[in-house]
Amino acid sequence: MFFISFKKEICDMGSKFKCTICNEEETMQFNPMEEWKIEGPLCGKCYSKQLAGHYPGKHVRVNKE
Ligand SMILES: [Zn+2]
Repeated sequence: MFFISFKKEICDMGSKFKCTICNEEETMQFNPMEEWKIEGPLCGKCYSKQLAGHYPGKHVRVNKE
């Protein structure tokens, strides 16, 4: 049982997508935040770039009402 679900996880993580910003094929997918006005998944690099650009100096998520 455990072995089967473990194998499935690896399979899912192995599927590739194209980053919306840099167009590179990546396996680790990050979803952009709504206020970024980006539609589509981002790679880790672009995601952290967006984070830094939108929230300068802060790398923690702030909850705004
Ligand atoms: Zn990217």
